[in-house]
Amino acid sequence: MSILPKTGSACNLADFAFGVQKASPSTFMRSVYLDSHSTTPVDPRVFEVMRPYFTEVFGNPASQSHRYGWAADEAVQTARRQVAGLIGAFPDEIVFTSGATESNNLALKGILNASPPRTRHLITVATEHRSVLDVGEVLQRQGHRLTVLPVDRNGLVTAGQVQSAITTDTALISVMLGNNEIGTLHPIREIGEVARARGIAFHCDGTQAAGLLTIDVQFDNIDLFSFSGHKLYGPKGVGALYVRGRGESTVPTPLIDGGGHERGLRSGTLNVPGIVGFGEACRLARMARPCEGERLLQLRNRLRDGLIAQLEGVRINGSETRRLPNNLSLSFQGIDGDRLLASLEDVAVSRGSACSAARRQASHVLRAVGLTDAEAQGTLRFGLGRFTTPEEIEFTLGRVVQAVQKLRTETSSETPSGQ
Ligand code: PMP
Repeated sequence: MSILPKTGSACNLADFAFGVQKASPSTFMRSVYLDSHSTTPVDPRVFEVMRPYFTEVFGNPASQSHRYGWAADEAVQTARRQVAGLIGAFPDEIVFTSGATESNNLALKGILNASPPRTRHLITVATEHRSVLDVGEVLQRQGHRLTVLPVDRNGLVTAGQVQSAITTDTALISVMLGNNEIGTLHPIREIGEVARARGIAFHCDGTQAAGLLTIDVQFDNIDLFSFSGHKLYGPKGVGALYVRGRGESTVPTPLIDGGGHERGLRSGTLNVPGIVGFGEACRLARMARPCEGERLLQLRNRLRDGLIAQLEGVRINGSETRRLPNNLSLSFQGIDGDRLLASLEDVAVSRGSACSAARRQASHVLRAVGLTDAEAQGTLRFGLGRFTTPEEIEFTLGRVVQAVQKLRTETSSETPSGQ
């Protein structure tokens, strides 16, 4: 159906309603949501703050000739302070982007390509998000040098490994804070110290950790930091790259040129409602972080301990101590992960990263920590969140135990004896 008014009729706004296709989730059935590494719901408090910026205060913050523009600009400035406040940055060091994928692209491509035609060296780690690893490979194809450091069985890299990989042409070190599959937390401050001592820019993908852990870009020696609205109860499609306002070595060349927005680092009209929501989400996260982290840790440990007590052949992936408080990655011996997921229809969990789900191959993170393809295949990732309740954890515990036991019984009866 066309959204245009009928020809010949006076232009009546009501006519437009005929063509409106509602994206109504009328058939959507709720289940326990434990996939918070993939995304989080917008906190209702965030949504309320965003609402007027769609319909009333809809101005372009770059329009400085009227109130609509001024009001939008003021809202963006407030959000910039809130976003900066979450990581101990100055507001003018925040570049708003469309999310962490773009922030990672801007950091890596922007720093490596900052002084063409010189080719330069990037150091990163095998368990990084695809938006870092794939960009590293693109840069390598363009002639830059790439070092991908291996991790130990817990998914950890050390500052010593980073130090040994540095060469005279190293331009950037990129190491994530919290891993999105196994939750491992790298020693960021020590790695930043190594980078700083050698005058090399240090980028950290903090997407999974920013809403949960205290981060201070000064204290943690971080020059560039990526994070995203939808991982901390803000909207999708908005994120930021922190860019230290220091020397030339930390200023990327832009990916998107145009009107010179965001200190010339990211042109394009700002996504005002999204930015306002991201700001409010950061403000709430900053207040909630200490107690939310502790609460999630208790719930996560309850789920982990319950599953391990009731099921044989369960392996915990990632570090037991250096770990995001909301993450649990478990491999169930002899279990097909797809069949397990299919039998857990009341619980939303995942096999691994949603971002590389299209690839249908064993997770590069699980392989990097030494899992076989079969072990990786039998792995589930649980991501707890702000709205997860103790009752939901008990429910999940029961469902997973039941499903694993059932699948194991079925598998043993399907396997002819002696095989
Ligand atoms: N980095 C990490 C560690 C992530 O977990 C994700 C999202 N899965 C991203 C980057 C990409 O974030 P966005 O969806 O905002 O592009």
